[in-house]
Amino acid sequence: MPIDYAAAILGRLPTGKRSTGLPKLISKLEAYLPPEEVESIVTAFDFAHEAHKGQQRQTGEAYITHPVAVAALLADLQLDPQTIKAALLHDVIEDTPAAKEEIAARFGAEVAQIVDGVSKLDKLTFRSQEEAQAASFRKMILAMVEDIRVILVKLADRCHNMETLDVLSPAKRRRIAKETLEIYAPIANRLGINSIRLELQDQGFRHLHPNRYRVIERALKKAKGNQKQFMKRILQNLERSLAEQGIEAKVMGREKHLYSIYRKMRLKNRHLNEIVDMFGFRIIVDKVDTCYRALGVVHSLHKPMPGRFKDYIAIPRINGYQSLHTTLFGPSSMPIEVQIRTKDMDRVAESGIAAHWQYKQGESGQPAPHTRAREWLTNLKEMQDGANSEEFLESVKVDLFPDKVYVFTPKGEILRLPRGSTCVDFAYAVHTAVGDRCVAAKINRRLVPLRTQLRNGETIEIITAKGGKPNPSWVNFVASAKARTAIRHFLKKMQQHEAIGLGKRMLEISLRDYKLSIRKVGISKIKLLAEELGLHGPEELYTQLGLGERMAPLVARRLLPDDEMEPLPNSEPLAITGTEGMVVTYAKCCSPIPGDTIMGYLSTGRGIVIHRDDCGNLVEYRKQPERWISVNWKPRIERDFNVEIRVEVVNRVGVLAAVAATISDCNSNIESVSIDERDGNTSTLNFQIQVKNRAHLARVLRSTRKMNDVYRVARKTA
Ligand code: MN
Repeated sequence: MPIDYAAAILGRLPTGKRSTGLPKLISKLEAYLPPEEVESIVTAFDFAHEAHKGQQRQTGEAYITHPVAVAALLADLQLDPQTIKAALLHDVIEDTPAAKEEIAARFGAEVAQIVDGVSKLDKLTFRSQEEAQAASFRKMILAMVEDIRVILVKLADRCHNMETLDVLSPAKRRRIAKETLEIYAPIANRLGINSIRLELQDQGFRHLHPNRYRVIERALKKAKGNQKQFMKRILQNLERSLAEQGIEAKVMGREKHLYSIYRKMRLKNRHLNEIVDMFGFRIIVDKVDTCYRALGVVHSLHKPMPGRFKDYIAIPRINGYQSLHTTLFGPSSMPIEVQIRTKDMDRVAESGIAAHWQYKQGESGQPAPHTRAREWLTNLKEMQDGANSEEFLESVKVDLFPDKVYVFTPKGEILRLPRGSTCVDFAYAVHTAVGDRCVAAKINRRLVPLRTQLRNGETIEIITAKGGKPNPSWVNFVASAKARTAIRHFLKKMQQHEAIGLGKRMLEISLRDYKLSIRKVGISKIKLLAEELGLHGPEELYTQLGLGERMAPLVARRLLPDDEMEPLPNSEPLAITGTEGMVVTYAKCCSPIPGDTIMGYLSTGRGIVIHRDDCGNLVEYRKQPERWISVNWKPRIERDFNVEIRVEVVNRVGVLAAVAATISDCNSNIESVSIDERDGNTSTLNFQIQVKNRAHLARVLRSTRKMNDVYRVARKTA
């Protein structure tokens, strides 16, 4: 690799591009990527540079400085070239017209996916104050990403934005700082990306509590000055003692982080000086057993404080962190905190899950994003073996491979639903009454069908109507148990309500055969009979009649004052109004419509099924005459009925459309159509259409028959 490769690239750069932070980024990339990768990253830079031309950050800098800074943060973690390119391009979809397709065409689908994922996350903002909501929001974010690299870019993006937050209004700064502390820092922590987590926390703290931040910062600075000489001496002592024992080690003073000092003060109720007056060192060695040898050296140099030694190598922290921690009595009894770990452990401690996307030379065939996330989880699991953190790991797993969707209510509350949930599931999750009455839904302010499946991060609004009620077909597409149960419950209640009405009418008709009525018989007598039959009351009796579980003539007979009464001839038929609901259904075999001569069959539990008098299926049913009731149509029925017609046509392009148009012109809806090809010349079209009655059907048949390409038209015979 040419040593001055950066210079070679930079030599070609116009001066305008040098002030973008690119030279620094290139030197970071050069440290771990081969030249051809660096060069291809520069083409991504060029694209972003062009796309953001003329745009400025609120700080007044050229916009391109931001994506370059984000890419540099990720280059510090030595992430793969795709991630770096995505970082450079991460604001391109949002802020400029350059589309996802163009990025895919130039830089590959993987980069485009990451950029697209980041843009989607950018549209979410968190506003709630509640802890539980924050937890849901974090899960929503993780559920939205298909590829963890989206999170890596987003976290780096937030990191850099936090550095330049000062230009915003105090209120806006506080909101973003809070979001950073409550949402993004915990996500970084959960994924073990410590370097970014610490930065997010310190910046979040600085903007949320500027005064407290300054106090701690000042105290820390002062302490640092005071401790400088001591630090140097301890460090040299440690280095010398380790070397004497033949241990190759890198010893360094450890930066203290302001937010963690603040947290210690609050959680452990300790005084600022107590925390600040402390030396911190880190010792990095090559192998695990060297860690323990180094610990021995350290302990012989200074007396260890009892109870402060922690072996996170044997029992790693839940996010994979491994290290030995010990605290020693230092000069003038100031404590010395020491961390000892291997290079590998240090890498994991810094980057966590990101370590699985670090560039490795000579690696070919990238494993799928999910495979890498699983790799990380498996690693954690192996390390945690024996420790009782199974539950926590399970919850990380659920976050990374979720079977739930997270969506917003219009008020910004987050609801968690099973994957595959629809607007109807959402409505029932809000409240059963909302579900029962929902008639329409909006996703992100756009009207959508109720059956639309929800996706993470969407805002759902349900429109209800006073008379709205569940549609039985909803049961077929809802995904949540709550919605399914509620719909079934409602339908059952509705059916019962309708059954009472129908049962009552049937009993009236049967009583009329004896010149009686419910009123004449008297409610007390009906109550008595219900009791005799072991029922709760008249309503249950009516329900049973309506559902066909009991025969009205038999019940009527038991209500007569005198058992010997003979029924009058010409029993009056039950008039079908078309509004009976679920307790009166129309047989699919013969599709009766108003005007047809019909018969009613009492089907146990389902109520009355109406057939045409000439329906072929009646032969079988006729064996049970007691289940037959005579019915007729009430005049002026206003609803539509399904009926099937067969149209034989010449096989010609456009004939189906022409017939369909003719049917529509007769004000008839087409529900479905199927085609039977007879031979090369003719076909039969089977239309399922909706009509008001026989006269309406006749009009449809007549109009269709008149068409040129139509041979024959007929209603389907049962
Ligand atoms: Mn950005």
